[in-house]
Amino acid sequence: MNKNINQIALVTGASRGIGKAVAIALSKTKTYVFINYKNNKNAALNTLKIIQKNGDQGEILGFDVSKKEETEKNIKNIIKNNGKIDILVNNAGLKDDMLMVRMKQENWESVINTNLTGFYNVSRLIVKNMIKNRFGRIINITSTSGQTGAAGQVNYSASKAGLIGATKALAKEIASRNITVNAVAPGFIETEMTKNILMDEIVKSIPVKRFGTPKEVAAAVMFLCSKQASYITGQVLGVNGGIF
Ligand code: NAP
Repeated sequence: MNKNINQIALVTGASRGIGKAVAIALSKTKTYVFINYKNNKNAALNTLKIIQKNGDQGEILGFDVSKKEETEKNIKNIIKNNGKIDILVNNAGLKDDMLMVRMKQENWESVINTNLTGFYNVSRLIVKNMIKNRFGRIINITSTSGQTGAAGQVNYSASKAGLIGATKALAKEIASRNITVNAVAPGFIETEMTKNILMDEIVKSIPVKRFGTPKEVAAAVMFLCSKQASYITGQVLGVNGGIF
């Protein structure tokens, strides 16, 4: 790590989509970025390659956020080797859409375990470290579905609404320690997660008349990570082209 670096960030699920765009954007701000992934090592290496090509720095780190032990082991290592994590972006997420009447317990649990329990598994030790350092920025990637509810997404909507509640509660617990906790709620963003959605139909209902890009979500995350956003905490910033 060279002398130009003044912040350490962890972005979960940074091998693809929104997390990838956030990791690249953060790395451009003298920030060393840990690029977390679950299975897709090659995609994570590709994120790192782009960062390094820009002359910026980071490293890949594979762990499954839904697994507490392996997650905490990796977080402890980052803190042990670097002393701190300044910025945490809880972005790792998945969906498993179906109507509630067809939803088996495993469909419910896999989504809740990654999207909501993953937040707990990743954040707890990092919050302790941020309190010690008297600085931190935590951004949780939720969804319009968590704000409004979406048919076919009872599990996903519940996980993302839970994340909003957790954001607001944690923000109040640690605001006095110079740590802000906010959520970004994307609408329809062009990533692998939305590749099977019938775009033409959905686009008609989006006021801006197009899907958003990962870079547009990253821009909102970057603002909330910045020193300028120091008086903003416990908020949910929609990046949704007007659909709500
Ligand atoms: P994506 O393209 O499907 O990428 C998902 C990322 O999460 C990948 O990097 C994946 O890693 C990682 N991941 C999944 N489960 C994980 C786990 N258990 N542990 C660690 N990493 C895990 O998704 P995306 O569209 O960029 O979505 C990113 C976030 O934005 C999610 O939380 C999603 O719910 C939210 N969001 C997306 C949209 C949208 O329209 N795309 C809208 C609202 C909210 P691997 O590559 O290793 O599998």
